[in-house]
Amino acid sequence: NPSLELYHPINHAYWRAEGVTPYLALARTFQVIEETKGRLKMIDILSNFFCSVMMVSPEDLVPCVYLSINQLAPAYEGLELGVAETTLMKAICKATGRNLAHIKSQTQLIGDLGIVAEQSRVSQRMMFRPKPLNVRAVFAKLKEIANISGQSKITLVYDIFVACRLSEARFFIRSLIGKLRIGIAEQSLLTALAIALVKKLHINDCKRIDKVAEIYKDEIAETTLILKTTFCQCPNYDIIIPAILKYDIEELQERCPMHPGMPLRPMLAQPTKGVHEVLERFSGMHITCEWKYDGERAQIHLNEQGEISIFSRNSENNTPKYPDLIARSKPILKTEVKSYILDSEIVAWDIERKQILPFQILSTRKRKNVDIDDIKVQVCVYIFDLLYINGKSLVTQPLSERRKILFEHFQEVEGEWKFATALNTNDMDEVQQFLEESIKGNCEGLMVKTLDEEATYEIAKRSRNWLKLKKDYLSNVGDSLDLVVIGGYKGKGRRTGIYGGFLLACYDTDNEEYQTICKIGTGFTDEDLRQHSEFFSTNKLSEAKSYFRYDSSLEPDDWFEPCQVWEVKCADLSLSPIHRAGIGIVDAERGISLRFPRFIRIRDDKSPENATDANQVAHMYSSQDVVKNNQKSSNSMD
Ligand code: ATP
Repeated sequence: NPSLELYHPINHAYWRAEGVTPYLALARTFQVIEETKGRLKMIDILSNFFCSVMMVSPEDLVPCVYLSINQLAPAYEGLELGVAETTLMKAICKATGRNLAHIKSQTQLIGDLGIVAEQSRVSQRMMFRPKPLNVRAVFAKLKEIANISGQSKITLVYDIFVACRLSEARFFIRSLIGKLRIGIAEQSLLTALAIALVKKLHINDCKRIDKVAEIYKDEIAETTLILKTTFCQCPNYDIIIPAILKYDIEELQERCPMHPGMPLRPMLAQPTKGVHEVLERFSGMHITCEWKYDGERAQIHLNEQGEISIFSRNSENNTPKYPDLIARSKPILKTEVKSYILDSEIVAWDIERKQILPFQILSTRKRKNVDIDDIKVQVCVYIFDLLYINGKSLVTQPLSERRKILFEHFQEVEGEWKFATALNTNDMDEVQQFLEESIKGNCEGLMVKTLDEEATYEIAKRSRNWLKLKKDYLSNVGDSLDLVVIGGYKGKGRRTGIYGGFLLACYDTDNEEYQTICKIGTGFTDEDLRQHSEFFSTNKLSEAKSYFRYDSSLEPDDWFEPCQVWEVKCADLSLSPIHRAGIGIVDAERGISLRFPRFIRIRDDKSPENATDANQVAHMYSSQDVVKNNQKSSNSMD
């Protein structure tokens, strides 16, 4: 493939002469990635490109990285492109002289305005050639577009679009729509960056770039781990990339510390099915049980400038959603505190009855442009951890110590700020009783946590040191699953004209692929189905993505862009000859599927990459009593 030559850092003479990264180099990289099947190959191609950028124009690495995941700034800043398709169509018409109706009908036919834009450019004759685009200029223009509104967007889009060559038009338009469709998510991107760093270090001793990855496998693994770990505490490429270019990788974590104002990936819990499992796991260790509040996770930051930010479980910036909390945050401080990071759950609160209200009430609260005087749903914050105080991280201290510091510096404010109700006990009868009390207190159950040993705050980990014990745990499964909708089946009878069933998948974080787990057609009201059909009809794909793993017998009528997560309950999990969830973990050839899946709700707070992971599915399958008992009896027969 001659275009692959472009990714070799040494031979690209044109790029070198210019000293800036041509936008075409990035667009071609995306194009090859889109045509490639297989995650490793995709990562390899991206890493060659990043390596080229590091060697030829390192100051372009930040925009190249952001553009590869279709962001303009750290995710938590929430700067989104998402320009309306009609605005883009108008700019395309202006630049190509085509009429709107034609562009619209082509887009409906092909299902991708990016391709339509590219085709319109290719067949267009030009009077004179505009100057070639470079990554830096395109990135700056995209930022400008994101920050303005109305008609001026069309002019800015036009300025770049007229200069687009070949596939540049496709990816420029897709960036603007907000769907790049190359399947590079954060984990692949970080891996590609790590490989690129190692390639850059060793390219001269290896001569051939493809040999580096083979010879320096261990170094790549170590670099990837450091980069991923650092990103969990400092999810900001504007900080990380200059640091990797300047310092040794071993120094990275220290050079990019956690800091108030930047969300940390939260520590997560493992499900359990009952008190007996808690006893088994924590025997002989000091533990604490906390009520498990059913609201919205909130990481609350105060920085040295006195600014407060609130981040969701997904590291989204929820600050504008809670102006009331910010306005009344001062009284929680008992001492003079200059900076902090608290971990907490926000719940809806009934002021008159002084009690917690169900999650459904919280979810009616407006998300954006909240005016403090219009707030109808009052909230109370339940604080359960302190991760940082006065310039110092506490994450390596045990929970007992973090709690002590929390109580020293913070205090409760009636109906507004509370500490999570907790009980330190190793007596399982007391745990059971505390579980029942939590349910009477309108909670979901308990979180059981280690206090002293193995009790650090594990950033981004689903840890065995936090166990969740839910009230409505189904005796078999223990927890609901959060799954990604990847396909739809057209309905029949009463459901004609809408989707009547959907294909769901879990996410395999190791391979960054969506693996099917079940078809679902139960748990929906007619209104749910109508809304889902409307939503997914604008997120259709012309074919399955290379990172969908499914059996051809499950082929849906329409494939969807993975963009929505649903919470689903089921009767149990079983091995399946057709589904692919967790394939290779429990069984070499069979995946795992859900029996009697039932739709519960949309999980807006989770992105598809935060869906239930393949390893979690395998763990849930293996923890079922039937499976465990079978295992025991087959072991005893051995
Ligand atoms: P997960 O976050 O584990 O993928 P999830 O979002 O569905 O799954 P749960 O499984 O219900 O959440 O449990 C973990 C969540 O419980 C935390 O993310 C937090 O929002 C909430 N929570 C409520 N009370 C506590 C507490 N005392 N300690 C820790 N988390 C709590």
